Amino acid sequence: MRILVLSDIHANLTALEAALDAAKGRWDRAVCLGDVVGYGPDPNEVATRIREMGAFCIRGNHDKAVAELMATEDFNPVAKAAVVWTRESLSKESLQWLKSLPSGPKEIEGIVLVHGSFHDEDEYVFTPEQALQGLLDSSRPLTFFGHTHHQGGFSYHDAQLEVLQIRPRDSDSFAALRIEPEKRYLLNPGAVGQPRDGNARAAFAIVDLEHRVVEFWRAAYDISAVQARMQAAHLPEPLVQRLLLGR
Ligand code: ZN
Repeated sequence: MRILVLSDIHANLTALEAALDAAKGRWDRAVCLGDVVGYGPDPNEVATRIREMGAFCIRGNHDKAVAELMATEDFNPVAKAAVVWTRESLSKESLQWLKSLPSGPKEIEGIVLVHGSFHDEDEYVFTPEQALQGLLDSSRPLTFFGHTHHQGGFSYHDAQLEVLQIRPRDSDSFAALRIEPEKRYLLNPGAVGQPRDGNARAAFAIVDLEHRVVEFWRAAYDISAVQARMQAAHLPEPLVQRLLLGR
């Protein structure tokens, strides 16, 4: 069983298509760690694509905010403007689908999916201290999280917590991580639609459970085409610019 792990697509259809093209023929089942919408110009197209793929999807904070399941007072003004625009742009079907997304943690095919941290779907996991509780408490050794838009993660064994700096080089499509049977992992596939780890390419991961390997992928996409659609939709300019920076 090979699982395609997508996260933080953020209504960026061009990035999603590039990721799916790169992953073609390499996975059996798809999952999504939330933030299907928010920031990007293609909320309906992306929601429809994820639904039609049959991806098992949990919700992210942007999905919740757009579906009016959480207040946006913690969102910065730019993010808030994108939430309002997204809500107004979504079809009834897409909005209904977003509302119906379950919260993490959810276990599927022997891996655990969360959006933020294991104990709080809205919490960011950047540091080893923030990762530790999830590493210890998750019901499975292999847990995937999103929300930070940083590809990589953490492993834990024998009271040793290791930060995994695993990203493909610019000239490569993916970097592989061997899963050791005695270790526990908290892994982030990176963001498909709005990377913030300094690399503008769309990020995702593929888990091969049989061979115990996780591949961390990057796929280039036509960023300027997405920026043009964002500008036409009058989405906030900082959101347009950050796609190219990968920050
Ligand atoms: Zn996000």
